[in-house]
Amino acid sequence: MRLDRFLSNFPRFSRQDSRLLISAGRLRVDGAVVHDPRHEVRDFQRVELDDELLQAGRSARYWMLHKPVGVVSATEHDEHRTVLDLLDEPDKHDLHLAGRLDLNTSGLLLITNDGRWSRRITQPQQRKPKVYHVTTEQPITAEYAEVFAQGLYFAFEDLTTLPAQLDVLSSHQARLTLFEGRYHQVKRMFGHFRNRVVALHRESMGEIVLDPQLAPGQYRALTAAEIASV
Ligand code: URA
Repeated sequence: MRLDRFLSNFPRFSRQDSRLLISAGRLRVDGAVVHDPRHEVRDFQRVELDDELLQAGRSARYWMLHKPVGVVSATEHDEHRTVLDLLDEPDKHDLHLAGRLDLNTSGLLLITNDGRWSRRITQPQQRKPKVYHVTTEQPITAEYAEVFAQGLYFAFEDLTTLPAQLDVLSSHQARLTLFEGRYHQVKRMFGHFRNRVVALHRESMGEIVLDPQLAPGQYRALTAAEIASV
């Protein structure tokens, strides 16, 4: 929210008061004086008027979870355990998932209360690579890499997938790098060749790699470098 709007949400400040206070240099956001009334203030920031604290700033939280197979990527579900059930943290209702994985997919899942951050890693326009380890029922032939690199037409969404990179590891295993996250995308891409994906595991998103120390179901806070990489 803009700083002038943030201030005028307090009943005691009119819009005029807000602008005057800001231009007089009396407002600080995270310790720095702000003179621009259009400056965007986030829930995570500390806002002060002179020595008075107007907003303490919620703490931003970022986790990586090794999602096991059989746990649903949702915050609530009637039948299955959800990934949030695996977190032993307060205020879980405040958290959301930065991208999802299917019930039978394992691997890296990012969980946060920072919506702007999660959009940066999930939106297709951001072109953040997502790397999957894929095991298939049928052999993977050389043709797959060419077709995936050109993009596949998905009739339901009426779109062509962004060029994806396939590195074949063995007759039935490959590493696939996608730059977007469409519904069931990996399975649909292999489905184009009538080849069923029998195991799918996400290894990384952007520069964030699933920590090999985490067993399925375990999680840890992201490091400052991992948060800043997004
Ligand atoms: N693509 C899929 O098909 N499933 C996932 O869980 C993730 C990507």
